[in-house]
Amino acid sequence: MTTDMPGARSFGPLPHPGEPGPQPLLQVDGVTLQYKTEKHLVTATYRVSFDVYKADRFVVLGPSGCGKSTLLKAAGGYMAPTEGSMRLKGVRIGEPGPDRVFVFQEFDQLLPWKTVKQNVTFALQSSRKMRGRAAEEQAMRYIEKVNLGKFANSYPHTLSGGMKQRVAIARALAMEPDILLMDEPFAALDALTRRRMQEELLRLWADTHFTVLFVTHSIPEAVLIGNRILLMSPHPGQVKGELNSAGDDPVDPVSGRKLSDRIHEMLFADRVEEQEVVPHG
Ligand code: ADP
Ligand code: MG
Repeated sequence: MTTDMPGARSFGPLPHPGEPGPQPLLQVDGVTLQYKTEKHLVTATYRVSFDVYKADRFVVLGPSGCGKSTLLKAAGGYMAPTEGSMRLKGVRIGEPGPDRVFVFQEFDQLLPWKTVKQNVTFALQSSRKMRGRAAEEQAMRYIEKVNLGKFANSYPHTLSGGMKQRVAIARALAMEPDILLMDEPFAALDALTRRRMQEELLRLWADTHFTVLFVTHSIPEAVLIGNRILLMSPHPGQVKGELNSAGDDPVDPVSGRKLSDRIHEMLFADRVEEQEVVPHG
């Protein structure tokens, strides 16, 4: 931790149940991310710190504009911190790589001129993860996992929004990345489809225990998806606190409710906003 800001990590690092080794998979340490535009310097996140362990469903929860997408971009290697560091397996993140794969909100993230199977196979081949027959088999394995086996030869425009997102998830999981970076992947879906997709993601997780860094502005979604939840303040994003939802059953109305209540309390406690902590320059 390089931050000396009292608001950051106000609840302290939480013990991680079942965590075998001391080293987190992803270490985000005092990360400030800024955009330099012609006229302005925009501070997207300010001294954000958190650790993601293997098999975590780590949720970053915060309002629009608090820097969630920017954090994911930096984890993906598309943007460098102006302060602090991000490490994957102890190595500073420098550039994008197949060990970190994105799923976005947009339905147009698939290649429209390729079928479902070709989309997944192409990702494996172009990252040189696999080729030929092996890539096709791996693609089909993951397409089956998201229950789209019958649609392997369909083109994206013939699929519903939910189905397209399932293809994007299959494509990402087929890469078997160290960490899956999900940027509000279900935000554009209708409420019922969204709920079904959330449960499907949990079912996939129960199957393969992948590690996911999932960002959302939805409290119910955070409570449902995350085993750990990082709360961010509004722009510029700072850490308000971290919650460990292990032991809480989000589907159980009482304990799911308790967790949401804790989140509400933390979001409306004015710890961070009271401080003048936004340096520009
Ligand atoms: P979130 O994903 O939480 O909604 P973002 O990471 O997209 O937030 O944005 C964080 C802040 O950075 C916002 O104030 C946004 O306007 C600003 N921002 C995002 N992208 C750019 C960019 N390319 N250039 C300048 N400012 C940007
Ligand atoms: Mg965003």
